[in-house]
Amino acid sequence: MSDPESMSDPESISGTGSISGTGVTGDAGGRDPRIVVIGAGIAGLTTAHVLTDAGFEDLVVLERGSDVGGVWHHNRYPGLTCDVPSQLYQFGFAPNPDWSKIWASGSEIQRYHRDVAERFGLMNRIRLNTEATAADFDDDAGTWTVTLADGEELIADFVICATGVLTNPQIPDIPGLDDFDGPVVHTARWDESLDTAGKRVAVIGTGSTGVQVVSALAPTAAGLVHFARTPQWILWAPMRLPQPRIVAAALRSMPGLHALVYRGLLGASAILPDIVRNDTWRRRAVQAYARLSLRVGVRDPELRAALTPRDQPLCKRQVVSGSYYRTITSSAADLVTDPIREITADGVVTADGRVHPVDVIVLATGFRAHDYMRPMSVTGRDGLTIDEAWRDGPRAYRMTAIPGFPNLFTVLGPNSPTGSISLQHTSERTAHYLASWLRRFARGEVDRIEVTAEATDEFNDDVRAAMGPTVWNTGCNSWYFSESGTIDLWPFDRATLDRMLAEPDPQHFHLTVAADPR
Ligand SMILES: Cc1cc2nc3c(=O)[nH]c(=O)nc-3n(C[C@H](O)[C@H](O)[C@H](O)COP(=O)(O)OP(=O)(O)OC[C@H]3O[C@@H](n4cnc5c(N)ncnc54)[C@H](O)[C@@H]3O)c2cc1C
Repeated sequence: MSDPESMSDPESISGTGSISGTGVTGDAGGRDPRIVVIGAGIAGLTTAHVLTDAGFEDLVVLERGSDVGGVWHHNRYPGLTCDVPSQLYQFGFAPNPDWSKIWASGSEIQRYHRDVAERFGLMNRIRLNTEATAADFDDDAGTWTVTLADGEELIADFVICATGVLTNPQIPDIPGLDDFDGPVVHTARWDESLDTAGKRVAVIGTGSTGVQVVSALAPTAAGLVHFARTPQWILWAPMRLPQPRIVAAALRSMPGLHALVYRGLLGASAILPDIVRNDTWRRRAVQAYARLSLRVGVRDPELRAALTPRDQPLCKRQVVSGSYYRTITSSAADLVTDPIREITADGVVTADGRVHPVDVIVLATGFRAHDYMRPMSVTGRDGLTIDEAWRDGPRAYRMTAIPGFPNLFTVLGPNSPTGSISLQHTSERTAHYLASWLRRFARGEVDRIEVTAEATDEFNDDVRAAMGPTVWNTGCNSWYFSESGTIDLWPFDRATLDRMLAEPDPQHFHLTVAADPR
């Protein structure tokens, strides 16, 4: 059984590709909890790796997609690029010296995930093409029954939902969309046989994806219309910059240097929570840079006015691009900011009555960001469903636990730090936190672990109070907001995140030991 106290720092990195922290493998303790992890994206892969490395062997990962990687498997649209430097957007336990670019493409990131899953022996625990449709807690047995799409049932002591945030595509409710004669494709379900070269293309949506796909498709299309009702601020960055080969060679041959670079980037990124939380010169400098990017990128005052957002830079998920302004100011693309009224068999009609004839419609319209583990049906203690528990929007204790759902945890659940703190780091911290609980279970100290409503309320009150001065709370409308108006992000700094996930606080939980736990 691994002693938590003997673990080294979870974020350590080593050039040999060894574990980022547990530093120990082997037997997890007296009884081996049966663990079902749902989702094989960053959160699920991290969880599977950390827990199996800590000795928890009875673990299966369910993934409805045909490959691991989550977002990076499901999204295969042209132009997909990560906006976080690759030397940071990687697992602490699996450093990759060989990224081809400073900001890697989606396909390179996906190859990396597949490689990590294979190298760390995770593939034989992952069941691909396997959707969990229901998870039901059995009050008497204290176990979960996870039902798969084909009707198979798995019994588990713990269910860990690593089901993602940006995973269920949002299809806009535009009159006539179904009547369109040509292909309609959502960017998260890209049809790889679709050839847009020489076609007239409509792109709907202005987030990172819309901006990326416009830049990628316009050069070969016969004409591209970007329907951008709410333009967003864009930070210019040279996104195609290669990672120099000498850098890769140095990182490969000097793992210590690689560790230093990773730690340096992680340390430097700690500035992001500060920027979003505090209206200081740093925030204003980034906002000024966004305005400068627009001014330099778009010389025509009329077009610039049309591309000027009404809200503050950084208030939404920040878009980064090195090519959008160049594309939209070229003859290859047209900007349309009028709202769409309807779609006909051969085009898009805007509110001003103009008809825009197109051959292909690309929906870059994002995701139902507050579904989390849904549409899977989840029923906890006393028949409480997740829909009832989350009637007023998704809420959890420290991103991980939900009152009424014993022995069920989430990784990158509600209030995760999208865009402000490394999600790989957050996943690793959460997985180590869960390992601490599982060890207690393994030692027979506890059978049923359920966070209290009080601790959850207290955490959420703190979140609400801390949201006050954040830039997200300056009046823009974004997918960060739940239906009930709460902001579904992490308003604290990284040190707070690390502290909250350092060790479970038993006072915040109802803990039960059954006479006969099984
Ligand atoms: C197009 C796009 C680009 C992005 N770019 C960036 C970026 O540049 N920088 C950044 O920091 N973040 C970016 N993100 C955010 C991204 O979501 C996170 O960085 C990260 O990939 C999330 O990982 P995850 O494991 O939590 O979720 P996901 O990657 O969504 O993985 C969840 C997995 O769970 C599976 N799943 C869900 N429900 C079930 C079920 N019932 N049964 C079985 N399997 C299930 C899904 O199929 C999915 O594979 C981007 C997101 C998108 C959509």
